[in-house]
Amino acid sequence: MKNELGDMPADEFRKHGHEIVDWIANYFEHIDEFPVLSQVEPNWLKNNLPSSAPQKGEDFGEVLADVDKLILPAVTHWNHPNFHGLFSTSTSSIGVFGEMLTAAFDMKAMLWRTSPASTELEDVVLDWVRQMVDLPPHFEGIIYDTASVSTMHAIAAAREKAGFEIREKGMSGRDDVPLLRVYASEHVHSSIDKGLITLGLGLRSLRKIECNERFEIIPEKLAEAIEEDIENGFVPICVIPTIGTTSTSSIDPVDAIADICEKYGIWLHVDTAYAGSTAILPEFREYFKGWARADSIVLNPHKWLFTPFDLSVLYCKNLNDLKDAFSLVAEYLKTTDEQTVKNGMDYGIQLGRRFRALKLWFVIRYFGVEGMQARLREHCRLARLFASWVEESEDWELLAPVPFALVCFRISAAGVRSPHVSKGSSDDEVNALNEHIMNAINASGDAYLSHTKLNGKFTLRLSVGSIRVEERHLRKVWDLLNSQLHEQIK
Ligand code: PLP
Repeated sequence: MKNELGDMPADEFRKHGHEIVDWIANYFEHIDEFPVLSQVEPNWLKNNLPSSAPQKGEDFGEVLADVDKLILPAVTHWNHPNFHGLFSTSTSSIGVFGEMLTAAFDMKAMLWRTSPASTELEDVVLDWVRQMVDLPPHFEGIIYDTASVSTMHAIAAAREKAGFEIREKGMSGRDDVPLLRVYASEHVHSSIDKGLITLGLGLRSLRKIECNERFEIIPEKLAEAIEEDIENGFVPICVIPTIGTTSTSSIDPVDAIADICEKYGIWLHVDTAYAGSTAILPEFREYFKGWARADSIVLNPHKWLFTPFDLSVLYCKNLNDLKDAFSLVAEYLKTTDEQTVKNGMDYGIQLGRRFRALKLWFVIRYFGVEGMQARLREHCRLARLFASWVEESEDWELLAPVPFALVCFRISAAGVRSPHVSKGSSDDEVNALNEHIMNAINASGDAYLSHTKLNGKFTLRLSVGSIRVEERHLRKVWDLLNSQLHEQIK
């Protein structure tokens, strides 16, 4: 029964709190018994829910029962150890506790005054992470929800730095702003395109640079593009190399790109949303050569640092660049301590900000750096093991190097013996066979793979990153792939 204020009394909260923790513990314990991808048809959930809100409140027990009956069937289980599509999520149990407390505090971290704990813990935890990934002390971080939003803020800061006073004067109705250019690889994540759309720069501002056969930006092509643009009166404002691209996890040569940015005075933003976590491994640091020369870097603990979604970190060489682009203090937000404290609202478009640092603090303290390193090493080992099965098999081939824990592969020419696809068959038919196998595995619910296209080839992507993934899960995917292939040959 509700208390006189309409909320749940403490005793009942305690009782249901235990139930929900039990529920989550059981869920994690048995997660691999669920189909990875939800098996429901579109609109199944909508059709099973009342179309308007209840007039009278219900017991929480009824709501929880409906989670089992209605919500669970419509869940795609990102935490399933056989979720290998896109990039796997690495959420840990301890991170869930962080989310619970964040909801309880429900602070809107805008000013230090409204949220000293969130503001200061964010600084401390981001400095821990900075040290863990071996960035120099002048890098200061800020937490946003996603890498898409982090990158958009970095481009906004770069745009402001270019000197056209866009913050004040905008871009519309002006004839004194030339085309501003942003450069990235042809394999860049779509968050960069979207950032440009949002900032009014438009997709025309993005110049995609040709890559080599390892899917890495060719620095000479970048320099040529910049020269050509300058000759045409355009203004280069930002270059965005990626360490760990979304398609293949390839690594752009950041050090060589930093030379070019320095020469032309262009903002260097490094997108390492996925792979940045591996910089906590000393043996992976060579992949990050030159990133300390960046103006800004994005990395996502919500991808591969055991932290529940959402938590993305933007590190800046000079955080005041973000402040110059975004700080705006309305009368009702003025405080007496502005000069002495950091107010999170000054560094982006959001006023209120979630207390996200708490869950990252929990995770780091619970795992310790060594615990995190051990898991990341294991994920990379498992991905290399899977890649070795692909390499050793006549039927399959690797289509990209495996620097981290993503394997890009497909049925090889020798593997193409299906009745649907005869030898010498067209690329389209080979692509169709790979797609067919992926769709069949995904539909079975046993595992989830996603794809990309590399040089016109339909490419299967297997990402290893769940906190629950073990060798047996990869063996299962390998067996599924081969039995699907043989079914096609029969
Ligand atoms: N950058 C890279 C390299 C990515 O792989 C991704 C997502 O996979 C993103 C950016 C976007 O991440 P988010 O979902 O946090 O916006």
